[in-house]
Amino acid sequence: MTKIAFIGLGNMGGPMASNLVGGGYAVSGYDLSVVACQLAAKTGVAIAVNAIEAARDADIIMTMLPVGADVLAAWGELAPLARQGAMFIDSSTIDVEQSRAAHQLARAAGCASVDAPVSGGVGGARAGALTFMCGGAPEDVERARPVLEKMGKRIVHCGKDGAGQAAKICNNMILGVQMIGVCEGFQLGEKLGLTPQALFDVVSTSSAQCWAINTNCPVPGPVPTSPASNDYKPGFATALMLKDMRLSQAAAAAFGLTTPFAAEAARVFAAYSDSGHEREDFSGIFRYLLAQQMQDV
Ligand code: NAD
Repeated sequence: MTKIAFIGLGNMGGPMASNLVGGGYAVSGYDLSVVACQLAAKTGVAIAVNAIEAARDADIIMTMLPVGADVLAAWGELAPLARQGAMFIDSSTIDVEQSRAAHQLARAAGCASVDAPVSGGVGGARAGALTFMCGGAPEDVERARPVLEKMGKRIVHCGKDGAGQAAKICNNMILGVQMIGVCEGFQLGEKLGLTPQALFDVVSTSSAQCWAINTNCPVPGPVPTSPASNDYKPGFATALMLKDMRLSQAAAAAFGLTTPFAAEAARVFAAYSDSGHEREDFSGIFRYLLAQQMQDV
C-alpha cells in the first residue's frame, strides 16, 4: 500500500489527510499542534512523534504549512532522509522563488517534486473538491495526479517548478479584491433597503456571482455553510490572506507592475489583521469595514 506522510494537519491539511485515508492510502501525519493531531487521529491518520518519523519509508511526503520558510525547513530536513524516488508535494501557498528552492532541495536528494497549491477553502478540503494548480515536470504531475484526485476535483498542470504557486498568487490577489468589493456591495444594498437575502438571491445568480458571494458570502445568513454564518470560523485565516496579498505585491513589484486595487486590498487586510482578527476567516473584513463606516459617521 502506498504510504503518504502528511505534515501540517491544520484547517486544510486535516481534512485533506482524512480524504487520503478514505481513499485507501496509509497516512502518517504530524503537526506541531496537539489539537490538530488529535482531530486527524480521529479520522484514521496515524500520528507520528515528529515529521521525520511520519516521513519514514513514505512514498509521498505532503506539506500543508503556513508559510514558505516552514516548507523549506520541512523539505530541507526530510529530503536527505527520504527513500530514493520518493515524491514531495507541497500544497501550501508560498512565494514562487521559495517553491523553486524547495524543488531543488528535493531534486538534490534524488526525489521527485510537485508544487500543488489549492483553491476551494476548508469546505472544498472537507468535500474533497479542491482545485490543485500544479508546477513541475509533466511526469511528476502525472504521478501525483491519483493522489491529488482523492482530495480534489480539478488538477491543472500550470507549467514548470513554481508555476502552481504563480497561479495561486494571481488567484488570491483577485479573490482579495473581490471580497472587499462584495462587502461594499452588501453594505450599499443595506443602505438602499435591501435585505442581505434578497441581494444574495440576485447577485449569486447574476453577473457579479463569484466564490466570495456564492460559497463564502461575508454576510451571515444567506450561505449557512459560509464562515460568516459561524462567527467567521473556521476558514481561511485573515493572516494567510494578508500573506498572499503581500506575495502578490512583492511579485508585481519585481516586474515593475502596479496593481492599485490589490495594493489597497492588501492595506485594508493588514489593518484588519493587525486589529486582532488575524485568525478569523478573511470574510470577517465585512464587520471591519462596517465598523470603519460607523467611525467615519
Ligand atoms: P492552519 O494554520 O490551519 O494550518 C497550518 C498547520 O501547520 C497548523 O496546524 C500548524 O500547527 C502546522 N505547522 C506549522 N509549522 C509546522 C511544522 N514545522 N511542522 C508541523 N506542523 C506545522 O492553516 P491552513 O488554513 O490549513 O493553511 C495551510 C496552507 O494552505 C497555507 O499556506 C494557506 O495559505 C494555504 N491555503 C489555505 C486555505 C484556507 O482556506 N484555509 C485555502 C487555500 C490555501
